[in-house]
Amino acid sequence: MPDKIKKLISQNSPCKTIKLNEPMAPYSSFKIGGPADILLIPNSILELTKTIDFLKLQHIPFVIIGSGTNLLISDYGIREVVVLTTSLNRIQITNNEITAECGAQVKRLCETAQAHSLSGLEFIYGMPGTIGGAVWMNARCYGSEIADILKNVHYLDQKQNEVEYIFNAKDFSYKKSPFQKSLQPILKVTLRLKEDDKIKINQIMQENIEDREKKGHFKFPSAGSIFKNNRDFKIPTGKILDELGLRGFTMGDAQIAPYHGNIFINLGHAKAMDVLNLIKHATQLAFHKKQIHLEPEICFLGEWNKNELNFS
Ligand SMILES: Cc1cc2nc3c(=O)[nH]c(=O)nc-3n(C[C@H](O)[C@H](O)[C@H](O)COP(=O)(O)OP(=O)(O)OC[C@H]3O[C@@H](n4cnc5c(N)ncnc54)[C@H](O)[C@@H]3O)c2cc1C
Repeated sequence: MPDKIKKLISQNSPCKTIKLNEPMAPYSSFKIGGPADILLIPNSILELTKTIDFLKLQHIPFVIIGSGTNLLISDYGIREVVVLTTSLNRIQITNNEITAECGAQVKRLCETAQAHSLSGLEFIYGMPGTIGGAVWMNARCYGSEIADILKNVHYLDQKQNEVEYIFNAKDFSYKKSPFQKSLQPILKVTLRLKEDDKIKINQIMQENIEDREKKGHFKFPSAGSIFKNNRDFKIPTGKILDELGLRGFTMGDAQIAPYHGNIFINLGHAKAMDVLNLIKHATQLAFHKKQIHLEPEICFLGEWNKNELNFS
């Protein structure tokens, strides 16, 4: 990013928390990634909307991230301005609904709902990330997805107006949300829940998190599942990679987890390129041995060469 733009942002951005040349590995669950030229951390929804207004007016490209739990950030870092939402985390309960700012952690949302005897979020307890990221991804766990409980989403439209999107089932499908097409910032989310017994809700939440622990989700830095599951394959992607003998396969310091074929882990000093090489190796092998096209679920952020990200 030209110094002129960095200076313009440093002097005029409505966002008060500005970090220059900020290493991004600590902001990603993979613990991988080079520096962002500029990282902005708004402290309120108003600061976020004014910041995006400013960036658009100045024609400065930007990306929004939550907890970085579904990202692979390039070793060369990110030239767009990165806007981090994790300080926008207010949660409100009204009757049987829960409304959260985009940067609220899903885990806290689940715990708040449980404390108010509200059921519906148990399925997602233990999944890391923000509610903004979960809606964007239409996050899915244990056979349920965010779309099942979504009521509305407030987002910023192209003209920077805050608009209410009312949930329509037709707009959502497996790991797809309408926000992926328009890339509009999600500001606030309301979910529909149901009254139920607190103890029962807690029991299900604990079972789910224990299951994740048993499956090794939190053993090493990772981004969860690397590839989407595709119903046409008839078996989970993890199983496909197991059958290809890929568990434990290592490139550099990145490894296909010895305990789960679809989780790629950082053994300590993995580079984004190590993970990308593992992804390429797995996709090529799946195609040659089983004629299956694996599709990455994770989002690639930062400076990548277009050919590097061609998996077909
Ligand atoms: C151990 C582990 C287990 C996991 N298990 C699951 C699982 O069971 N099911 C599942 O679906 N996923 C799972 N994941 C992946 C990840 O947790 C989810 O996809 C999560 O919803 C991502 O949220 P995030 O805040 O980290 O988003 P990020 O990774 O920061 O961003 C993901 C995408 O969302 C966009 N985004 C984020 N916030 C906004 C916003 N406010 N407005 C517009 N766009 C936004 C970003 O631009 C990016 O494209 C797992 C990950 C890990 C590390």
